[in-house]
Amino acid sequence: MKRTLYLKLLLGYVVFGILAFLTIATFTSHQTLNYIEKNTISGMYRESNLLASSYASNYYMGSMTLEDITSQLRSVSTYLNAEIWLIGGKGNILISTNNDSVPGGNVKDFDIASFGTKYYQKGTFFNTFSETTISVFSPVTINYKVRGYLVIHKPVSGLMHFKDGFLNISYLTLAIIFLCAFVMLGLFSFTVYLPIRKITQAAREYSEGNFDTKINIHSNDEIGYLAGSINYMATELSTLEEDQRKFIANVSHDFRSPLTSIKGYIEAIMDGTIPHEMQDKYLNIILFETERLNKLTQGMLELNKYGAKGSMMDISSFDINNTIKLVVQSFEGTCKKKRISFELILTGQTSYVSADMSKIQQVLYNLIDNAIKFSHPDSSITIETTEKNDKVFISVKDTGIGIPKDSLKKIWERFYKTDLSRGKDKRGTGLGLAIVREIISAHNENINVISTEDVGTEFIFTLPLTRQENPL
Ligand code: ATP
Ligand code: MG
Repeated sequence: MKRTLYLKLLLGYVVFGILAFLTIATFTSHQTLNYIEKNTISGMYRESNLLASSYASNYYMGSMTLEDITSQLRSVSTYLNAEIWLIGGKGNILISTNNDSVPGGNVKDFDIASFGTKYYQKGTFFNTFSETTISVFSPVTINYKVRGYLVIHKPVSGLMHFKDGFLNISYLTLAIIFLCAFVMLGLFSFTVYLPIRKITQAAREYSEGNFDTKINIHSNDEIGYLAGSINYMATELSTLEEDQRKFIANVSHDFRSPLTSIKGYIEAIMDGTIPHEMQDKYLNIILFETERLNKLTQGMLELNKYGAKGSMMDISSFDINNTIKLVVQSFEGTCKKKRISFELILTGQTSYVSADMSKIQQVLYNLIDNAIKFSHPDSSITIETTEKNDKVFISVKDTGIGIPKDSLKKIWERFYKTDLSRGKDKRGTGLGLAIVREIISAHNENINVISTEDVGTEFIFTLPLTRQENPL
């Protein structure tokens, strides 16, 4: 199996890391520098204003000597980590706190108007510095007249250190986030990816027909629910397969035994093993077996119609009491032989139901046929109809051999015959009740059985009542 989902997740994780790194290296770096610059400039402006209105003014008013001011400004410049200049109106440098630049020099092309409306400049300050520097100035005003300018210079490279420190914190934070994301990835693999892999593997086993594999996930979430549903589906599929296998085995068996005996008797007749005068007896057995095969084929064809859920129903309104009487009459001959009598307890004169008449006749026929087959001679079969709400309950009850408890559920299966019945009824195919159940469920009705071994059996099914004749 390709681990594409896992690879996609891993790729997503790495791409996230790279994008986050690039964002810090470009966007965050740029924004941080801007922020630091702005902050520094406003701080420098506050200082320059203060210095211009205190020390610088004192100099112009003559209350402090140039040396005094210079030494004062030097200590301030150390504190600010910046260079402080006092420039005359024409650009002549009166004080410079930097020992290298000589006071008394001139700032070439000095023109305060080039600052425009801004109080600072980023550059080389009229080509005085070799590196990019931020210069902030404040005019020194005495009696409303500008006498000079106090300028504070700070190289941009100094701010870069600041920014780098800031960025290092950001990179460290990113590394911690990246680590947390890795833990999340592990957690995701454990809770989502691994279970999905298990489910996929099981699905592949099922597709190869191996339904024994069970998905061992019991979490109480969507994945646990999915695993449970797939396990259920696999169990259903495996029983379906088992049912089909059983069905084919039963069909083959039921066809093979009569065919083997027919073949055996015909061969014996042909090669003279069976003498001429005995042939009639064996031809009768052959006829019996052929009839059984015919019945088997008919039954299977009938069931097949219902299995495909395509059986057309011819629903009409008819009197169920009358139908019961007619079906019972058709059994008169068989009953006489076994001295079995019928007791009919029917509700009222008529009881109209809406159903497929010929199919309900077949249901009654199969149930009564069973009741007669599995009854003892000289017994009675009771057929009763009861109306309850919108339903009529039809019961066929005998006092015959009964059905063992553990066979009760199986009698509805195709080809199933209880051990008790095998000796009594060789002709039976075991399809009769399967057909009955299909017909009743095609009507959306129910059928139940109550039986006790050696006491008797009762089948009860329902049909919908209609109050008048032919309402459809
Ligand atoms: P067929 O209906 O094709 O002649 P069958 O009667 O054996 O064959 P079903 O009608 O499907 O098949 O019945 C299945 C089995 O249920 C019977 O073989 C029998 O063992 C048991 N059974 C059904 N009805 C009764 C009954 N009234 N009393 C006792 N056992 C019954
Ligand atoms: Mg039957």
